[in-house]
Amino acid sequence: MLERLDDAFTFMDGLVDGQAGRWDLAGQIPVELLRTAGARGLLCAEVADSHGGLGLSSRDNGELTAHVGSRCSSLRSVMTSQGMAAWSIQRLANADQSATLLPQLVNGQLAAVGFSESVAGSDLSGMSTQIKLDGDSVVLDGSKVWVTGARYADLLVVFGQCDGGAAAVVVPTSAPGVSVEPVADPMGCRAAGHANIKFDSVQLPASSILGSPGLPLPLLVTTALAYGRISVAWGCVGILRACRNAAALHARSRTQFGKPLSEHQLVGRHLAELFIAEQVATRSCEHASSCWDAGSPDMVVATVLAKHVSAGHAATGAAAAVQVMASAAAQDGHVVARAYRDAKLMEIIEGTSEICQLILAQHAVATAE
Ligand code: FAD
Repeated sequence: MLERLDDAFTFMDGLVDGQAGRWDLAGQIPVELLRTAGARGLLCAEVADSHGGLGLSSRDNGELTAHVGSRCSSLRSVMTSQGMAAWSIQRLANADQSATLLPQLVNGQLAAVGFSESVAGSDLSGMSTQIKLDGDSVVLDGSKVWVTGARYADLLVVFGQCDGGAAAVVVPTSAPGVSVEPVADPMGCRAAGHANIKFDSVQLPASSILGSPGLPLPLLVTTALAYGRISVAWGCVGILRACRNAAALHARSRTQFGKPLSEHQLVGRHLAELFIAEQVATRSCEHASSCWDAGSPDMVVATVLAKHVSAGHAATGAAAAVQVMASAAAQDGHVVARAYRDAKLMEIIEGTSEICQLILAQHAVATAE
């Protein structure tokens, strides 16, 4: 498997090829490049061999996600969305739907996942998108905001209220009534294809609903978010690796006051903090992935913990890297400047830091003896 993983690293390196800064400034990744990675199964590498995927373990997919995250957080974000769509299908769809949809996602079709709405961010119970059953059809009305990868997507997995509960529905972006409006000038992950989407009486076959209608909304969104969280957590490990590397190389090679920056103790403290951040984030992700790979019931909490720890450390670690590099990194296009903007957003997506803390607090209370 290591050989296969090394090949995947090399392939993704070849695709990025030092262009991440340019994509960030342009606000887009060439879509053919995303399809090339997708057709190799690399955007959702945990999809099983039986559906044409690479069937990577959570741990190996995590390392792939971190590797891509160290090169380009926008591309990593697209991987997170594709993986979250595939995971939602895998968990919620029936066998026929899985057999149709999963092979598409490892053959160059691109997907994104919409749950957030303008009035329903952290509190998804306020979601107002409606999925109405109508004989052999369903009709979708509503809107979603900030959907990562939506500008590139062929398919959307959309969550909404349905039949006294909730449902997830698969929607082609080409369907009449779907309009995709790019989010203007995002602060970070600028090439990740964020978009706001409107659904105006979109008619779909009833088979577009994944599994059954009328399921509890928390169950549905927690399913999708679990994958999103572990993927973002590993992406943050990648951000930290890139920042530690850039800051350490700079501190070793630049001299001020007659000695390398790294030998000034206050600079050394920043480097130590970066190293600690990278190590702690890595260990928390490894633990969460080992829970996924073992099918452990601890997986949900371990994933929230990994996401919270890694996102927080990525934000402070990227800030420390900017401090060490000072003017050398204080320009758009520099890997550390990009990491600084991208990392802050990791504390917002897939459950903000505060929402993660609330979940961890509930767990602490529930498991007290
Ligand atoms: P709000 O919910 O309004 O929160 C504002 C602040 O209040 C936050 O600090 C929050 O933590 C805090 N807060 C809220 N409630 C509580 C509480 N009970 N206790 C303590 N603090 C609280 N959505 C998708 O559906 N699909 C995507 O692919 C996607 N990608 C995204 C990518 C990026 C880069 C960004 C920025 C957002 C993305 N989103 C996506 C939306 C994202 O999920 C929401 O932004 C996030 O859930 C927070 O919602 P909000 O922005 O409305 O903030």
